Amino acid sequence: MFMQCPNCNGKDIGKIGSQQFYCWNCFIEMSVTGDELTVHQVEADGSLSSLNDLFTEDERKLKW
Ligand SMILES: [Zn+2]
Repeated sequence: MFMQCPNCNGKDIGKIGSQQFYCWNCFIEMSVTGDELTVHQVEADGSLSSLNDLFTEDERKLKW
């Protein structure tokens, strides 16, 4: 499976759940829904804020 971070284009992606991934380069969390990525930033207090607005639908499409 090929996975690339939509934010930094890095490939240093760790798997943290069955459908959840983490970018060790820019510290964002991605979860897979269907063939789309949902991108979150983990805040200092542990809550998640959505970064989906920063990306186009195309950028969040899975490319594998
Ligand atoms: Zn990244």
